[in-house]
Amino acid sequence: MRFLIFIFFINFYFSDSQNRCGSEDYRNILIEKGLFVSQKNVSQNIVRSGQYSIPVVFHIIYNNESENISDDQIISQLDVLNSDYNAENDDFINVPDIFINVASSSGIRFCLAQADPSGNVSSGITRTYTDLEFFSMSEDKMKISSEGGVDPWDTEKYLNIWVCDLSGNLLGFATYPGTNPLLDGVVIDYQYLGVLPNNPSPYNLGRTATHEIGHYFGLEHTFYAGCSDWDNCDDTPSITSSTFGCPEFPQESCGSIDMTMNFMDYTNDACMCMFTQCQSDIMLATLAEQRVSLLENSFCFYNSLSSSILKEYIYPNPFYDYIFFENFNLIKNIIVYDYLGEKVYENKFITSSVNLNHLIKGLYFICVNGNCQKVIKD
Ligand SMILES: [Zn+2]
Repeated sequence: MRFLIFIFFINFYFSDSQNRCGSEDYRNILIEKGLFVSQKNVSQNIVRSGQYSIPVVFHIIYNNESENISDDQIISQLDVLNSDYNAENDDFINVPDIFINVASSSGIRFCLAQADPSGNVSSGITRTYTDLEFFSMSEDKMKISSEGGVDPWDTEKYLNIWVCDLSGNLLGFATYPGTNPLLDGVVIDYQYLGVLPNNPSPYNLGRTATHEIGHYFGLEHTFYAGCSDWDNCDDTPSITSSTFGCPEFPQESCGSIDMTMNFMDYTNDACMCMFTQCQSDIMLATLAEQRVSLLENSFCFYNSLSSSILKEYIYPNPFYDYIFFENFNLIKNIIVYDYLGEKVYENKFITSSVNLNHLIKGLYFICVNGNCQKVIKD
């Protein structure tokens, strides 16, 4: 009887709660299978040299239409990543004063891969129908074409992100550096990728991928090893265990104020907002020492876009035929790119509007004097 009560409790608990991150468990599974080679300590003595462009391919694996998520949902995830990894997120202002000196930008940016491994032009998104209704973390089938998933693109040159229906209410998991190359990358449940109104709260702001890519670049959870504080970072205070929900500040454990708002804890998406200097250094060192081939690949088109600069200058968005410019006397150059990064319009004359009615409906990037913004043609 006691056993049955235990089983009931386990079922009840897991059916009603989401499993925030499977990465530590996944690492243990791979160690048992002999598929995790090692996780070297990186030097952390990084000379920062500005921006680092990571080409990303999203593998969308779907069994029904709702799992076949939209391009907009994917783009919204890239926006979140590029904000979070550069301290450009709107909620960065929520970093408490006592942590502001260690809050950090890594300079890592993410783009949709412009070419596939054979050199063909690509959108950086693959879409594959599967007969499988869901995927289990322990089986790796989402990463194997012959098993109903999709083989990775060269994992040394691309960050592969598989998006599928994960079993067990799992939001996502990642591989740490040192994993077998055929399995290397990040897996996110389709409901938790990007920012869409229908994504289930409280994990609806794209922070699952922010967190998982942190593991991919060598970060541990801030609560790893509890008060003994072994996450390799002195600027993340030790904390007894993972934090759920959205705790009031300050929380205290292990004799110090907890950094519950760190991306590598487990709080709600709306309540995490920062990496630290040490975490950025680890990620950059991992990139430089163990994932350097990522930087040798590609022109990251999306990466060059700074979407916040132009908002007051152009309207409307979405647009139909014309885009209008405020302060048009400052304009020297207008270039419009399509979703694949192909130039579809250019104008070097000063003008207050451009007629783009020749373009088909969809996503474009309009760049004025070299600064770009995402626009939608309706
Ligand atoms: Zn995690």
